[in-house]
Amino acid sequence: MNTASENKGQSAEGRTEAAIILGGGLAGLAAGYRLTKAGLKASVFEAGPEVGGLSRTVRTGDFLFDLGGHRFFTTDKEVDALVRALMGEELIEVSRSSQIFLREKFFDYPLKPLNAVSGLGIPTVARIIADYSIERLKALVVNGRCVSMEDWVVKHFGRTMFNIYFKQYSEKVWGLGCDRISEKWVAKRIQGLSLWKALKNAFFKFSGREIPTLVDTFVYPRLGIGRISDRLREEIERHNTVHTSTGVVGISRDGFKIESITVRNSEGEERIGAGELISTIPATSLVKMMEPAPPPDVMEAALKLRFRDLLLVAVMVGRERVTDQTWVYIPEKKIPFGRIHEPKNWSVDMAPADKTLLVIEYFCFKGDSTWTAPAEELSRVTCDGLEKLGFIRPGEVIGTEIVRVPGAYPLFEVGFEDNCKKVYDWLGGFKNLQVAGRAGTFQYQNMDHAIASGFEAVESLIKKRPGA
Ligand SMILES: Cc1cc2nc3c(=O)[nH]c(=O)nc-3n(C[C@H](O)[C@H](O)[C@H](O)COP(=O)(O)OP(=O)(O)OC[C@H]3O[C@@H](n4cnc5c(N)ncnc54)[C@H](O)[C@@H]3O)c2cc1C
Repeated sequence: MNTASENKGQSAEGRTEAAIILGGGLAGLAAGYRLTKAGLKASVFEAGPEVGGLSRTVRTGDFLFDLGGHRFFTTDKEVDALVRALMGEELIEVSRSSQIFLREKFFDYPLKPLNAVSGLGIPTVARIIADYSIERLKALVVNGRCVSMEDWVVKHFGRTMFNIYFKQYSEKVWGLGCDRISEKWVAKRIQGLSLWKALKNAFFKFSGREIPTLVDTFVYPRLGIGRISDRLREEIERHNTVHTSTGVVGISRDGFKIESITVRNSEGEERIGAGELISTIPATSLVKMMEPAPPPDVMEAALKLRFRDLLLVAVMVGRERVTDQTWVYIPEKKIPFGRIHEPKNWSVDMAPADKTLLVIEYFCFKGDSTWTAPAEELSRVTCDGLEKLGFIRPGEVIGTEIVRVPGAYPLFEVGFEDNCKKVYDWLGGFKNLQVAGRAGTFQYQNMDHAIASGFEAVESLIKKRPGA
């Protein structure tokens, strides 16, 4: 790679790549994999030191953890076949068992009827059923306004269930009132679910296994979810290149054609001519990097597409195991974090035999008081919270590690669709640009969707080729 000074005034004609992929998360790697398998030249550029993006696994000493436990589950046969073929013997089957901490008690998650009745009490359960019945009757008469998450949940689960179960946790995750979160998010996230279906599932284990929220087993790589990305990288590098620690810092366009990208790494900057471009980086960054800049209304819409960020505190504990849970959800406001997972319950190889670790998720905004808090304070507050919940005792903690994860969740505020439309209509006009992935398309994509969207971007690119 040329240095910045060597590059001054260098034209885009210098080096040209047939296909350039921005971002080495699962979407970008899936695109790179598919291009490589099709025998085409491609280069992936990833800003971070490793591939995997949100689906990577961090190593600290002898401990491994994901950026929030990542379970792999898909109904997409092609994606499922790819992951199984790539990972082979590395995959293990994990049973899901999760709990939620409500009103000072732990409940099974999803709620189980007996556990819910004994924990919430008969009067509250009766209120839940009455409220839900009222909503069902209302729905028969009027098709009420459904704009926000609050509207959607009340319609499908009733007001009491919304107040007890959904409100606090959602507000913790999003940092917004549920009346400001779009119903589009929740409708997709808990697709097809209602109180009635949840109860049917709890009593009869009904056949709605395709509702991902209810699925109770999943596959997982023995050494963490990041292994899927590592394997994709290995396959790409048989014939093509993955550049890590190499961020894209500029994109030059001529009307609706991308001419070149500028990348920066420890050796300097390089401008690379672009044949075809697949972008999986946040659409906001993509638009901001364009030179010449996009029309002001497109830029304004892009800047309104916000993300919720995540901060993780991994707490290493000098004991074999702390919980037997996959995830523990903590809606309660007086505990500052929102979710806990113990990687050893996903795979015993994630920690030494006589030790374990808990990974604690704080949902926050970059730059807020959580994001900027010093490590010692975050460790102290986290350990206090874990002690209050009864998970650890003083003196058991043998280390902590903080990881900040920007752009973890696209933030679906009421009205976000108009901004998305403006941005993606404009990006859609480019002749040699495809967008893919979670932040790239501003969609609530899980890993399987991210992989599938990388594949789809390549399909569109291949279809455009002369003679295709
Ligand atoms: C806490 C949490 C838990 C989750 N749990 C699950 C789960 O259990 N199951 C599941 O299926 N999914 C889960 N997901 C979703 C899953 O992580 C994503 O769907 C998937 O990782 C998205 O992959 P991606 O490639 O689209 O995006 P990303 O992983 O965000 O990849 C984008 C990449 O682009 C890079 N990049 C950004 N800017 C630049 C630049 N200028 N130049 C070069 N590179 C750049 C980034 O560093 C990143 O590596 C979870 C997500 C979170 C946040």
